[in-house]
Amino acid sequence: MLYVKAPAKINLTLDVLNKRPDGYHEVEMIMTTVDLADRIGLELREDDAIHIYSSNNFVPNDHRNLAYQAAAILKERFKIQEGVNITIDKQVPIAAGLAGGSSDAAATLKGLNDLWNLQLTLDEIAEIGSEIGSDVPYCVYGGTAIARGRGEKIEHIEAPPNCWVVLAKPSIGVSTGSVYGGLQLDSIEHPDTQRMRDAIAKGSYEEMCASVGNVLESVTLKLHPEVSSIKEQMKRFGADAVLMSGSGPTVFGLVSNETRTTRIVNGLRGFCDEVYAIRMLGERELLD
Ligand code: ATP
Repeated sequence: MLYVKAPAKINLTLDVLNKRPDGYHEVEMIMTTVDLADRIGLELREDDAIHIYSSNNFVPNDHRNLAYQAAAILKERFKIQEGVNITIDKQVPIAAGLAGGSSDAAATLKGLNDLWNLQLTLDEIAEIGSEIGSDVPYCVYGGTAIARGRGEKIEHIEAPPNCWVVLAKPSIGVSTGSVYGGLQLDSIEHPDTQRMRDAIAKGSYEEMCASVGNVLESVTLKLHPEVSSIKEQMKRFGADAVLMSGSGPTVFGLVSNETRTTRIVNGLRGFCDEVYAIRMLGERELLD
């Protein structure tokens, strides 16, 4: 069995620039990997079936699973006869804005590249990943990056200053499609992506905290007031910056010290079932 880590990401910024004629939104977002990961186990089969086994009943175990799609696309493209058993030890909350499914797909592509000896470069794997989903190319590389286009054009940047990250996910489902659909592009406040980029380049924790922003909050917070109230609680308990990740509903807080992190986690446990205290994990080499 080959095991591959599939870490979650958070968006330090998420901006939508316009809607394209092909229906996709043109985005610009700074994403960074955090220290919370699914573990993907890959075991080759002699027949040509793809089987998904997951520790979580909410994860689809058929072609709807992004890890299944990753195996299927490689099998078809490279005419692989063998099948594979894919075991997903799910640690990343599902439908949370943390790219859990995309990261599972990316990890499956990378693992099968080794097991099937395809000798693809990371850029080639990312290219194949973009056919599965817009966030998959970023997940193939991990680390800290600016994603543009529909999310598939990746520019690597330095890791942000290290700090604690508190994640809190209310137990509601958010449909990414309806959040993007509800976006009023002419009346939203856009995050300052360049300012965040400068803050990261300078290694300034304070400026990073002052520069977080996500245009999708304008939609999700109206649809789900619970998300606003978690943001308020996190601020009240002492987070230095608070933002929704992706299309939500997960909220993250940045915190510079462990004592305050513990206080925030303990405070939030009364409001929210899923609360995690983790670290940023910006450096690409830490992922393997
Ligand atoms: P993103 O941040 O990229 O929008 P997300 O964190 O909001 O992603 P996922 O956890 O990837 O969302 O799951 C969204 C939906 O995708 C789930 O409701 C589930 O039905 C489906 N799905 C497909 N494959 C997976 C997988 N491997 N893990 C979790 N969900 C998956």
